[in-house]
Amino acid sequence: MIPAKFKKVSLLTVAAALLAGVAVSAAAPRAQLLPVPKVVAPAITGDTIRDVTKELSSDAYEGRGPASRAEDLTITYIIKRFKAAGLRPGNKGSWLQDVPTVDITAKNADGMTVNAGGQTLRYKFGSDIVAGSYRVTPQTRIKDAPLVFVGYGITAPELGWNDYAGVDMKGKIAVILVNDPDYETADESGLFKGRRMTYYGRWTYKFEEAARQGAAGALIVHDTFPAAYGWQVVNSSWTGTQHYIASANNAMDQTQANGWIQKPVAEEVLKASGQDLTALTAAAKQQGFKAVPLGSSASLSFDNEVKRATSHNVIGILPGKKRPREYVLYTAHWDHLGRCTPDKTGDDICNGAIDNATGVGALVSLAEANVKVGAADRSQVFMSVTLEESGLLGSRYYAEHPVYPLARTVGGVNMDGVGPGSPSKDVSVTGGDKSDLTRYLQAAMKAMGLYLTPEDHPERGGYYRSDHFSFAKLGVPMFSVGRGSDWTQGGKAAGQAASEDYVLHRYHQPSDQYDPAWDWSGAVQEISLFYRLGRSLAMTTDWPNWHKTDEFRRIRDKSRAGVK
Ligand SMILES: [Zn+2]
Repeated sequence: MIPAKFKKVSLLTVAAALLAGVAVSAAAPRAQLLPVPKVVAPAITGDTIRDVTKELSSDAYEGRGPASRAEDLTITYIIKRFKAAGLRPGNKGSWLQDVPTVDITAKNADGMTVNAGGQTLRYKFGSDIVAGSYRVTPQTRIKDAPLVFVGYGITAPELGWNDYAGVDMKGKIAVILVNDPDYETADESGLFKGRRMTYYGRWTYKFEEAARQGAAGALIVHDTFPAAYGWQVVNSSWTGTQHYIASANNAMDQTQANGWIQKPVAEEVLKASGQDLTALTAAAKQQGFKAVPLGSSASLSFDNEVKRATSHNVIGILPGKKRPREYVLYTAHWDHLGRCTPDKTGDDICNGAIDNATGVGALVSLAEANVKVGAADRSQVFMSVTLEESGLLGSRYYAEHPVYPLARTVGGVNMDGVGPGSPSKDVSVTGGDKSDLTRYLQAAMKAMGLYLTPEDHPERGGYYRSDHFSFAKLGVPMFSVGRGSDWTQGGKAAGQAASEDYVLHRYHQPSDQYDPAWDWSGAVQEISLFYRLGRSLAMTTDWPNWHKTDEFRRIRDKSRAGVK
């Protein structure tokens, strides 16, 4: 999951209007907006989330590493709880969906050689460049591939932006700037939402787009400020084993190599090619920017050690009464880091109590609450996904191989970290006001007497870093919300102290452990909020969409166009 401090976020653009009690939506005004159905949450106690969290974070589960003995224990327990709650198996009679994975480890990497302006420049793996292959292939060999500077490497038709216009990338390597063109803006105005990160600013997008353009390779120019982390982070996360979903074509539609280069490397290569990185960066921020072939070429090669495994998503369903072929999702990842670096006491089990045994506990609690009230009009799908910690792979696999068509999946709520502590007076939203789901959140907040707190770090792109994103990316509108830190017991000081303690002392460490002294009243409030959000989506005939200029709107429109 994303650390709690990244979740102190909000719908900035509507906050003021909300406070004034005005119903707003940044969406294009429709002739008639369907009212948000009124739903009343049944009595929810903290017993279920407490019991599930205690069980799944006990040492017996060894930190819930995927494709291990711990996975068998974990999915068996979740199925038991789903069954007891009264759900039905969610995958054609089965509780499980297989998630085939590939682990690739680069070996024998001998760096990158660039030929530019009659010079031969050599760069070392690790200190100058990191690279890997998405393709499942024993060897990666790129020889004298022409380099093309493609600015931010963005194709966004809804914004009239195309960094690849007029260039043929076949057999070439794209040199790409990190983030998006207006990341230095102080507020969230601008084509790419100013300082708020959009998906176009994420490194994952840049590699995907380069592949769509047919490039042989893609190299992102690292720069600490827009990347928001130093080279050390890039280096450590790109060396060692990388995890991917297995695909029928062995990912041959991807580039041969994706990687990062240090900024001084890019400066040197561009200079030797008769260009200037600063000048080209300035040009790349302007609409109408044209990609620049550098007249230089690069070679790189390494071997790939490949290992395959299978993990599982657990899926249950409460079929709808009136429109069973329309679906609303609740998701929470079950996996965590498994055995990890030992702490001072020698404890090497990353138990993942908050991250994300609590989310699974909330999921079971929501199944129980919905069954108790009775089936909704639409079907409700409860899914505990795997491999979130390895790059959202379980949710991505489901989204790419959905049991229920995404075009008929209305939207949903993802839960990643439903922490203990006091109830709150506020709600935090990751990602800002992106879709018509805002109206559903407003209705729930109003009913519960909650207010919205502005997002602390919209530039960090928290929305793109947990499982809801896997669905959003393929068009399904998803909530990423949680309770804020203005606690009813102890106010902001208490809420912020708890969140700081978690980020500094527990997040992704063996100390993310169950504590019998935990107060679950805040978690109960959060589950009630999730109940309202999911249930109101399951009781309407509405199809909330992304706002007009949102990066996922065009994908959703295309997907929904196929529905009769
Ligand atoms: Zn998590």
